[in-house]
Amino acid sequence: MRVLVFSARKDERAFLRQAMVKLGHEIAFEEAHLSGRTAALAEGYDAISVFVNDCVDAEVIASLDSLGVKAIALRCAGYNNVDLDAAANAGIPVVRVPAYSPYAVAEHAVALLMALNRHIHKAYNRVREGNFSLDGLVGRDIHGKTVGVIGTGTIGRVFCQILRGFGARVIAYDLYPCEEALKMGVEYVDLARLYAESDIISLHCPLTPQTHHLIDAEALASMKQGVIIINTSRGGLVDTQAVIGGLKSLQVGGLALDVYEEEADLFFEDLSGEVIADDELMRLTTFPNVIITGHQAFLTQEALINIAETTAQNLSDLESNASCSNQL
Ligand code: NAD
Repeated sequence: MRVLVFSARKDERAFLRQAMVKLGHEIAFEEAHLSGRTAALAEGYDAISVFVNDCVDAEVIASLDSLGVKAIALRCAGYNNVDLDAAANAGIPVVRVPAYSPYAVAEHAVALLMALNRHIHKAYNRVREGNFSLDGLVGRDIHGKTVGVIGTGTIGRVFCQILRGFGARVIAYDLYPCEEALKMGVEYVDLARLYAESDIISLHCPLTPQTHHLIDAEALASMKQGVIIINTSRGGLVDTQAVIGGLKSLQVGGLALDVYEEEADLFFEDLSGEVIADDELMRLTTFPNVIITGHQAFLTQEALINIAETTAQNLSDLESNASCSNQL
Protein backbone atom coordinates (compact mmCIF):
# COMPACT_ATOMS: atom_id res chain seq x y z
CA MET A 1 0.00 0.00 0.00
CA ARG A 2 1.02 3.62 -0.42
CA VAL A 3 0.78 5.01 3.10
CA LEU A 4 0.85 8.64 4.24
CA VAL A 5 1.79 9.09 7.91
CA PHE A 6 0.23 12.20 9.48
CA SER A 7 1.73 13.86 12.60
CA ALA A 8 4.98 12.05 11.79
CA ARG A 9 7.55 12.71 14.51
CA LYS A 10 11.31 12.49 13.91
CA ASP A 11 11.71 9.85 16.62
CA GLU A 12 9.42 7.33 14.90
CA ARG A 13 10.23 7.76 11.21
CA ALA A 14 13.15 5.30 10.91
CA PHE A 15 11.21 2.57 12.74
CA LEU A 16 8.12 3.11 10.59
CA ARG A 17 10.11 3.18 7.34
CA GLN A 18 11.90 -0.06 8.19
CA ALA A 19 8.70 -1.90 9.18
CA MET A 20 6.69 -0.68 6.17
CA VAL A 21 9.38 -1.36 3.56
CA LYS A 22 9.90 -4.86 5.00
CA LEU A 23 6.25 -5.66 4.27
CA GLY A 24 6.30 -4.04 0.82
CA HIS A 25 4.48 -0.78 1.64
CA GLU A 26 5.53 2.62 0.32
CA ILE A 27 5.65 5.29 3.00
CA ALA A 28 5.64 9.09 3.09
CA PHE A 29 5.65 11.38 6.09
CA GLU A 30 3.68 14.53 6.82
CA GLU A 31 4.40 16.64 9.89
CA ALA A 32 0.95 18.23 9.91
CA HIS A 33 -1.90 16.84 11.99
CA LEU A 34 -4.79 15.38 10.03
CA SER A 35 -7.75 17.78 9.97
CA GLY A 36 -10.38 19.07 7.55
CA ARG A 37 -7.70 21.45 6.26
CA THR A 38 -4.99 18.84 5.66
CA ALA A 39 -7.04 15.80 4.58
CA ALA A 40 -6.44 16.68 0.90
CA LEU A 41 -2.76 15.76 1.36
CA ALA A 42 -3.91 12.10 1.33
CA GLU A 43 -4.62 12.26 -2.40
CA GLY A 44 -2.88 9.39 -4.20
CA TYR A 45 -2.45 7.25 -1.07
CA ASP A 46 -4.17 3.95 -0.28
CA ALA A 47 -3.95 4.36 3.47
CA ILE A 48 -3.19 6.96 6.09
CA SER A 49 -1.72 6.57 9.55
CA VAL A 50 -2.67 8.87 12.44
CA PHE A 51 -1.81 9.48 16.09
CA VAL A 52 -3.54 10.68 19.27
CA ASN A 53 -4.08 14.33 18.35
CA ASP A 54 -5.20 13.88 14.73
CA CYS A 55 -8.83 14.70 14.03
CA VAL A 56 -10.61 11.86 12.23
CA ASP A 57 -14.18 13.15 12.34
CA ALA A 58 -17.03 12.61 9.86
CA GLU A 59 -15.95 15.54 7.66
CA VAL A 60 -12.37 14.28 7.42
CA ILE A 61 -13.55 10.74 6.71
CA ALA A 62 -15.80 12.02 3.89
CA SER A 63 -12.76 13.79 2.36
CA LEU A 64 -10.59 10.68 2.71
CA ASP A 65 -13.33 8.58 1.11
CA SER A 66 -13.61 10.94 -1.86
CA LEU A 67 -9.82 10.70 -2.31
CA GLY A 68 -9.97 6.89 -2.45
CA VAL A 69 -8.23 6.22 0.89
CA LYS A 70 -8.97 2.60 1.83
CA ALA A 71 -7.64 2.28 5.37
CA ILE A 72 -6.92 4.30 8.51
CA ALA A 73 -4.15 2.94 10.74
CA LEU A 74 -3.88 4.37 14.24
CA ARG A 75 -0.39 4.28 15.75
CA CYS A 76 -1.89 4.19 19.24
CA ALA A 77 -4.36 2.24 21.34
CA GLY A 78 -6.95 4.96 22.08
CA TYR A 79 -9.44 5.91 19.38
CA ASN A 80 -11.50 8.67 21.02
CA ASN A 81 -10.42 10.98 18.13
CA VAL A 82 -11.98 8.76 15.42
CA ASP A 83 -15.64 8.75 14.31
CA LEU A 84 -15.93 4.98 13.94
CA ASP A 85 -19.54 5.15 12.71
CA ALA A 86 -18.57 7.52 9.90
CA ALA A 87 -15.64 5.26 8.96
CA ALA A 88 -17.91 2.20 8.93
CA ASN A 89 -20.48 4.01 6.76
CA ALA A 90 -17.73 4.96 4.32
CA GLY A 91 -16.45 1.36 4.35
CA ILE A 92 -12.99 2.46 5.53
CA PRO A 93 -11.54 0.00 8.06
CA VAL A 94 -9.79 1.46 11.11
CA VAL A 95 -6.98 -0.51 12.74
CA ARG A 96 -4.97 0.29 15.86
CA VAL A 97 -2.07 -0.86 18.05
CA PRO A 98 -3.83 -2.15 21.16
CA ALA A 99 -0.71 -2.59 23.29
CA TYR A 100 2.88 -1.66 22.58
CA SER A 101 4.71 -1.55 25.88
CA PRO A 102 2.94 -1.38 29.21
CA TYR A 103 6.42 -1.24 30.77
CA ALA A 104 7.20 2.03 28.98
CA VAL A 105 4.21 3.83 30.50
CA ALA A 106 4.36 2.23 33.95
CA GLU A 107 8.11 2.88 34.24
CA HIS A 108 7.59 6.52 33.24
CA ALA A 109 4.93 6.88 35.94
CA VAL A 110 7.46 5.52 38.44
CA ALA A 111 10.15 7.87 37.06
CA LEU A 112 7.84 10.85 37.59
CA LEU A 113 6.99 9.69 41.10
CA MET A 114 10.63 9.20 42.07
CA ALA A 115 11.73 12.53 40.55
CA LEU A 116 8.94 14.38 42.34
CA ASN A 117 9.35 12.67 45.69
CA ARG A 118 13.16 13.07 45.76
CA HIS A 119 13.17 16.54 44.13
CA ILE A 120 15.46 15.39 41.31
CA HIS A 121 14.22 18.24 39.07
CA LYS A 122 15.43 20.79 41.63
CA ALA A 123 18.67 18.97 42.51
CA TYR A 124 19.66 18.67 38.83
CA ASN A 125 19.54 22.42 38.29
CA ARG A 126 21.09 23.20 41.66
CA VAL A 127 24.18 21.05 41.14
CA ARG A 128 24.75 22.51 37.66
CA GLU A 129 24.96 25.92 39.31
CA GLY A 130 27.40 24.72 41.94
CA ASN A 131 24.74 24.75 44.67
CA PHE A 132 25.16 21.62 46.76
CA SER A 133 22.79 22.65 49.55
CA LEU A 134 20.27 20.03 50.65
CA ASP A 135 17.69 22.59 51.79
CA GLY A 136 14.22 21.66 50.59
CA LEU A 137 15.29 18.30 49.13
CA VAL A 138 13.86 16.02 51.85
CA GLY A 139 11.86 13.18 50.31
CA ARG A 140 9.97 10.27 51.79
CA ASP A 141 10.64 6.51 51.59
CA ILE A 142 8.20 4.84 49.22
CA HIS A 143 8.73 1.67 51.22
CA GLY A 144 5.84 1.25 53.63
CA LYS A 145 3.70 3.98 52.05
CA THR A 146 0.21 3.32 50.71
CA VAL A 147 -0.04 3.68 46.95
CA GLY A 148 -3.51 3.86 45.36
CA VAL A 149 -3.79 2.67 41.77
CA ILE A 150 -6.92 3.50 39.77
CA GLY A 151 -7.21 1.05 36.87
CA THR A 152 -5.35 -2.26 37.10
CA GLY A 153 -5.29 -3.07 33.37
CA THR A 154 -2.13 -3.83 31.42
CA ILE A 155 -0.24 -0.70 32.52
CA GLY A 156 -1.69 -0.41 36.01
CA ARG A 157 -0.63 -3.97 36.87
CA VAL A 158 2.99 -3.33 35.81
CA PHE A 159 2.94 -0.19 37.97
CA CYS A 160 1.56 -2.22 40.91
CA GLN A 161 4.29 -4.82 40.50
CA ILE A 162 7.06 -2.20 40.56
CA LEU A 163 5.59 -0.51 43.64
CA ARG A 164 5.19 -3.86 45.40
CA GLY A 165 8.90 -4.35 44.66
CA PHE A 166 9.59 -1.10 46.52
CA GLY A 167 7.80 -2.54 49.55
CA ALA A 168 4.79 -0.25 49.28
CA ARG A 169 1.29 -1.26 50.34
CA VAL A 170 -0.68 -1.13 47.08
CA ILE A 171 -4.43 -0.64 47.11
CA ALA A 172 -6.45 -0.40 43.91
CA TYR A 173 -9.80 0.46 42.41
CA ASP A 174 -11.04 -1.02 39.14
CA LEU A 175 -14.47 -1.87 37.77
CA TYR A 176 -13.08 -5.36 37.15
CA PRO A 177 -10.62 -6.48 39.83
CA CYS A 178 -8.13 -8.98 38.43
CA GLU A 179 -6.61 -12.14 39.84
CA GLU A 180 -3.07 -11.25 38.70
CA ALA A 181 -3.09 -8.09 40.82
CA LEU A 182 -4.49 -9.93 43.82
CA LYS A 183 -1.65 -12.46 43.52
CA MET A 184 0.86 -9.58 43.73
CA GLY A 185 -0.66 -8.62 47.04
CA VAL A 186 -2.73 -5.73 45.72
CA GLU A 187 -5.83 -5.05 47.83
CA TYR A 188 -8.96 -3.83 46.02
CA VAL A 189 -10.92 -1.11 47.83
CA ASP A 190 -13.65 1.34 46.85
CA LEU A 191 -12.70 4.80 45.59
CA ALA A 192 -13.58 6.55 48.87
CA ARG A 193 -11.17 4.32 50.78
CA LEU A 194 -8.48 4.63 48.13
CA TYR A 195 -8.68 8.44 48.39
CA ALA A 196 -8.72 8.38 52.19
CA GLU A 197 -5.76 6.01 52.66
CA SER A 198 -3.33 6.70 49.80
CA ASP A 199 -0.11 8.69 50.19
CA ILE A 200 0.36 8.43 46.43
CA ILE A 201 -2.31 7.99 43.74
CA SER A 202 -1.52 6.90 40.18
CA LEU A 203 -4.12 6.94 37.40
CA HIS A 204 -4.22 4.09 34.88
CA CYS A 205 -7.87 3.93 33.79
CA PRO A 206 -9.14 5.12 30.38
CA LEU A 207 -10.90 8.43 29.79
CA THR A 208 -14.64 7.72 29.53
CA PRO A 209 -17.71 9.80 30.39
CA GLN A 210 -17.58 8.13 33.84
CA THR A 211 -13.92 8.95 34.48
CA HIS A 212 -13.92 12.52 33.08
CA HIS A 213 -12.69 14.78 35.94
CA LEU A 214 -12.51 11.79 38.27
CA ILE A 215 -10.01 13.86 40.24
CA ASP A 216 -12.16 16.92 40.99
CA ALA A 217 -12.43 19.25 43.99
CA GLU A 218 -14.58 16.81 45.94
CA ALA A 219 -12.22 13.89 45.35
CA LEU A 220 -9.21 16.04 46.28
CA ALA A 221 -10.89 17.13 49.52
CA SER A 222 -11.33 13.50 50.55
CA MET A 223 -7.65 12.64 50.03
CA LYS A 224 -4.85 12.68 52.61
CA GLN A 225 -3.24 16.08 53.03
CA GLY A 226 -0.03 16.18 50.96
CA VAL A 227 -1.08 13.41 48.58
CA ILE A 228 1.09 12.91 45.50
CA ILE A 229 -0.90 12.45 42.27
CA ILE A 230 0.56 10.91 39.09
CA ASN A 231 -1.34 10.97 35.79
CA THR A 232 0.13 9.16 32.79
CA SER A 233 -3.26 8.08 31.48
CA ARG A 234 -5.39 10.83 29.90
CA GLY A 235 -5.53 14.54 30.76
CA GLY A 236 -9.31 14.65 31.10
CA LEU A 237 -9.18 12.47 34.22
CA VAL A 238 -7.97 15.47 36.23
CA ASP A 239 -9.89 18.73 36.68
CA THR A 240 -6.97 21.11 36.20
CA GLN A 241 -8.56 24.06 37.99
CA ALA A 242 -9.41 21.91 41.00
CA VAL A 243 -5.89 20.48 41.22
CA ILE A 244 -4.39 23.98 41.02
CA GLY A 245 -6.63 24.85 44.00
CA GLY A 246 -5.41 21.71 45.79
CA LEU A 247 -1.76 22.65 45.19
CA LYS A 248 -2.34 26.21 46.45
CA SER A 249 -4.05 24.99 49.64
CA LEU A 250 -1.27 22.37 50.14
CA GLN A 251 -3.88 19.59 50.08
CA VAL A 252 -1.91 18.23 47.11
CA GLY A 253 1.75 17.72 48.01
CA GLY A 254 2.96 16.89 44.52
CA LEU A 255 1.62 16.46 41.01
CA ALA A 256 3.21 14.77 38.02
CA LEU A 257 1.49 14.83 34.65
CA ASP A 258 2.43 13.24 31.34
CA VAL A 259 -0.96 14.15 29.93
CA TYR A 260 -3.01 17.33 30.13
CA GLU A 261 -6.65 17.92 29.30
CA GLU A 262 -5.88 20.70 26.79
CA GLU A 263 -2.76 19.07 25.34
CA ALA A 264 -4.05 18.63 21.76
CA ASP A 265 -2.71 21.95 20.41
CA LEU A 266 0.46 21.95 22.49
CA PHE A 267 2.08 18.59 23.02
CA PHE A 268 4.47 17.10 20.43
CA GLU A 269 5.30 20.63 19.14
CA ASP A 270 8.32 22.85 19.81
CA LEU A 271 6.63 26.03 21.05
CA SER A 272 9.70 27.36 22.85
CA GLY A 273 9.68 30.51 20.69
CA GLU A 274 5.96 31.13 21.08
CA VAL A 275 3.70 32.76 23.65
CA ILE A 276 1.66 29.97 25.22
CA ALA A 277 -1.84 31.22 25.92
CA ASP A 278 -2.93 28.37 28.19
CA ASP A 279 -2.96 30.05 31.63
CA GLU A 280 -3.72 26.86 33.57
CA LEU A 281 -0.82 24.92 32.08
CA MET A 282 1.48 27.89 32.66
CA ARG A 283 0.28 28.18 36.28
CA LEU A 284 1.03 24.50 36.82
CA THR A 285 4.61 24.99 35.62
CA THR A 286 5.21 27.61 38.34
CA PHE A 287 4.74 25.18 41.25
CA PRO A 288 7.98 23.71 42.63
CA ASN A 289 6.17 20.42 43.33
CA VAL A 290 4.76 19.88 39.84
CA ILE A 291 6.53 17.95 37.07
CA ILE A 292 5.07 17.83 33.58
CA THR A 293 6.25 15.81 30.59
CA GLY A 294 4.65 16.14 27.17
CA HIS A 295 2.96 12.76 26.60
CA GLN A 296 6.21 10.84 26.41
CA ALA A 297 5.42 7.92 28.72
CA PHE A 298 5.13 5.53 25.77
CA LEU A 299 8.39 6.71 24.21
CA THR A 300 10.83 3.81 24.40
CA GLN A 301 12.61 2.08 21.53
CA GLU A 302 10.72 -1.12 22.27
CA ALA A 303 7.36 0.65 22.07
CA LEU A 304 8.26 2.49 18.85
CA ILE A 305 9.38 -0.74 17.16
CA ASN A 306 6.21 -2.47 18.31
CA ILE A 307 4.00 0.39 17.08
CA ALA A 308 5.75 0.46 13.67
CA GLU A 309 5.67 -3.31 13.15
CA THR A 310 2.04 -3.68 14.28
CA THR A 311 0.91 -0.77 12.07
CA ALA A 312 2.66 -2.26 9.01
CA GLN A 313 1.25 -5.73 9.76
CA ASN A 314 -2.27 -4.30 10.26
CA LEU A 315 -2.12 -2.75 6.78
CA SER A 316 -0.77 -5.97 5.24
CA ASP A 317 -3.62 -7.92 6.86
CA LEU A 318 -6.16 -5.51 5.38
CA GLU A 319 -4.47 -5.60 1.97
CA SER A 320 -4.55 -9.39 1.78
CA ASN A 321 -8.14 -9.39 3.05
CA ALA A 322 -7.04 -11.53 5.95
CA SER A 323 -8.92 -10.71 9.10
CA CYS A 324 -7.11 -8.12 11.19
CA SER A 325 -7.49 -8.73 14.91
CA ASN A 326 -6.64 -5.07 15.54
CA GLN A 327 -9.55 -3.72 13.48
CA LEU A 328 -12.03 -1.59 15.44
P1 NAD B 1 -6.33 -1.33 29.86
O1 NAD B 1 -7.58 -1.30 29.06
O2 NAD B 1 -5.48 -2.56 29.84
O3 NAD B 1 -6.68 -1.04 31.40
C1 NAD B 1 -7.59 -0.05 31.81
C2 NAD B 1 -8.19 -0.51 33.12
O4 NAD B 1 -9.03 0.54 33.61
C3 NAD B 1 -9.05 -1.77 32.99
O5 NAD B 1 -8.68 -2.71 33.97
C4 NAD B 1 -10.47 -1.25 33.22
O6 NAD B 1 -11.31 -2.19 33.86
C5 NAD B 1 -10.20 -0.06 34.12
N1 NAD B 1 -11.29 0.90 34.14
C6 NAD B 1 -12.13 1.25 33.13
N2 NAD B 1 -13.03 2.16 33.57
C7 NAD B 1 -12.73 2.37 34.88
C8 NAD B 1 -13.31 3.19 35.87
N3 NAD B 1 -14.38 3.95 35.61
N4 NAD B 1 -12.76 3.18 37.09
C9 NAD B 1 -11.70 2.38 37.38
N5 NAD B 1 -11.11 1.58 36.47
C10 NAD B 1 -11.62 1.59 35.23
O7 NAD B 1 -5.51 -0.05 29.42
P2 NAD B 1 -3.93 0.18 29.58
O8 NAD B 1 -3.23 -0.34 28.37
O9 NAD B 1 -3.48 -0.28 30.92
O10 NAD B 1 -3.87 1.77 29.49
C11 NAD B 1 -4.37 2.59 30.54
C12 NAD B 1 -4.44 4.00 30.05
O11 NAD B 1 -3.11 4.50 29.83
C13 NAD B 1 -5.09 4.14 28.66
O12 NAD B 1 -6.47 4.30 28.80
C14 NAD B 1 -4.44 5.35 28.08
O13 NAD B 1 -5.29 6.45 28.30
C15 NAD B 1 -3.16 5.52 28.87
N6 NAD B 1 -1.95 5.49 28.05
C16 NAD B 1 -1.09 6.53 28.13
C17 NAD B 1 0.08 6.53 27.39
C18 NAD B 1 1.09 7.66 27.49
O14 NAD B 1 2.02 7.72 26.69
N7 NAD B 1 0.97 8.57 28.44
C19 NAD B 1 0.36 5.45 26.55
C20 NAD B 1 -0.54 4.39 26.49
C21 NAD B 1 -1.70 4.41 27.25
